[in-house]
Amino acid sequence: MIRLPVQLAAAQPGWTVRADVIVVGSGIAGLATALHARRAGRTVLVITKAQVNEGSTRWAQGGIAAALAEDDSPAEHLEDTLLAGVGLCDEEAVRVLVTEGPGAVRGLIQLGARFDTEPDGGISLTREGGHHRDRIAHAGGDATGAEISRAMVEAIARDPGIELVENALALDLITDETGAAQGITLHVLGTGQRDGVGAALAPTVVLATGGFGQVFRQTTNPYVSTGDGVALAMRAGADVADLEFVQFHPTVMWLGPFAQGQQPLVSEAVRGEGAFLIDAEGTRFMTSEHEMADLAPRDVVAKAIMRRMRATSTDHVWLDARHLGADMWVQRFPTILESCRSRGIDPITDLIPVSPAQHYVSGGVLTDLAGRTSIPGLYACGEVACTGVHGANRLASNSLLEGLVFAGRIGAQIYRGLRVVRDPILPSHTDQRLLPHQVRRRVQTTMDRHVGVLRSSESLQLASTELNALAATEQGKPIAEDWETTNIATIATALTRHAALREETRGSHWREDFPDQNDAQWQVRLVSNLNSDGTLTTRTVPRSGVSYSDGRQA
Ligand SMILES: Cc1cc2nc3c(=O)[nH]c(=O)nc-3n(C[C@H](O)[C@H](O)[C@H](O)COP(=O)(O)OP(=O)(O)OC[C@H]3O[C@@H](n4cnc5c(N)ncnc54)[C@H](O)[C@@H]3O)c2cc1C
Repeated sequence: MIRLPVQLAAAQPGWTVRADVIVVGSGIAGLATALHARRAGRTVLVITKAQVNEGSTRWAQGGIAAALAEDDSPAEHLEDTLLAGVGLCDEEAVRVLVTEGPGAVRGLIQLGARFDTEPDGGISLTREGGHHRDRIAHAGGDATGAEISRAMVEAIARDPGIELVENALALDLITDETGAAQGITLHVLGTGQRDGVGAALAPTVVLATGGFGQVFRQTTNPYVSTGDGVALAMRAGADVADLEFVQFHPTVMWLGPFAQGQQPLVSEAVRGEGAFLIDAEGTRFMTSEHEMADLAPRDVVAKAIMRRMRATSTDHVWLDARHLGADMWVQRFPTILESCRSRGIDPITDLIPVSPAQHYVSGGVLTDLAGRTSIPGLYACGEVACTGVHGANRLASNSLLEGLVFAGRIGAQIYRGLRVVRDPILPSHTDQRLLPHQVRRRVQTTMDRHVGVLRSSESLQLASTELNALAATEQGKPIAEDWETTNIATIATALTRHAALREETRGSHWREDFPDQNDAQWQVRLVSNLNSDGTLTTRTVPRSGVSYSDGRQA
């Protein structure tokens, strides 16, 4: 069996840098946390592994959900979110999300983000799958994430108290003798003083590293989404939860059976404006699947597509959005229009071939309502975190909001005062147990084939055997690609374990051999820990009531 690498696999740091707060990642969650920490008067070091705007945030198309309309309310947003989460949401976390959401979006506007407006100046709101109200604010038509990213990157650049280090890959958590966070080791590809492996020291470390779409072969996520934050937290012994709930977006442009890496998304908002799915025979099938038809929650649509593809022996279905007309396409969806046309499809006259692909992870590093993890001083925010707001399935456009809202909550913790700075235990040896990057494709293909939309004990056993066989591969090197591959394999192993244990079908987790939802046994969350010997321990916990200490009293 594969023994996963544990903490302090990093090389000895050659240099150190200090700040009050270290934020790892520069998407909406990381940059919002950095700005909140500054309001608390702290010095902040943001480290990010590529350019500042690389990450899922800038790819977000549809928008950000919040009860901003007069005919809407947080209570209705709560109801829709709980429904999409299929009985596994932490209701208190959802309440936080929906009640603090509208203020957080207004804060984003004050920061300089320009959302699309109606002729009367009000924010233009649309609807997406699972929402019973128009509550999705969007920017640039379908370029919401790019606009949010622009506004936030400009805001941090204006603040001399925030230092940004690009091309810096976070490797492992540094702790003190009490086990609390005191910084991270990182690998910087730069020139000058900070090059190679170093240590960034701070008593407060915020993981905002995004999702882990690259664990799969076909995903909408960019290349940086290799799950480093989750794997790093696992190596440090943190609780990780809900890893089996991986959302597969129903309408990802189908580019052929051999396509791999980041695939183009056709936002749910296109269906929100009236587009619908048809099968190979031209039959509109969602009307007979769900009362909300093409706007049913994502898991419902993805499963219906998979069933249809099987029934018609095809590898994709079609999205018909021709009737939206040229004006709608040009004004409302310019990014998707360009993305389709660049691949030879004109959605004004052609059907768009689509099939489900990995899109979002509901699980991650388990946090409480203040963003605290099980390791004192270590916080997690955004897609890397598992706050419990998504349960078994994320409601569309709730993820940008989650990053924004919980960044504010972490900011409130930082405002309370600094944690104790203790001597960090720095890695004193090089203990490389990394996997070589050559096995990355193998892991991704295994995950697509056996741990994708459709799962069974047989497919999960096959995945587990494949992953265990990685133990026989040669040793990797301490280079970024091998670190990422190791992180991908670490998450793949834990995810496969969770998916095998959850013997029911719920939300985005679909077991062919356990097709029913089993509330009596499974209205609980699976939480895993990586042990110091590289094995995993998994247990169940109630779906709500997570509470951690930040160790301030220590
Ligand atoms: C195509 C697409 C469309 C989407 N559309 C929507 C939408 O319309 N509405 C919505 O709410 N959500 C949408 N989502 C989901 C949403 O974009 C993400 O969940 C959200 O942006 C995550 O933000 P984040 O800050 O947590 O992570 P990200 O934006 O992914 O940022 C992660 C950051 O961490 C950095 N990083 C990662 N690993 C390391 C490391 N080891 N060291 C240093 N830095 C690291 C990355 O470089 C990046 O800067 C979409 C996602 C995709 C991919």
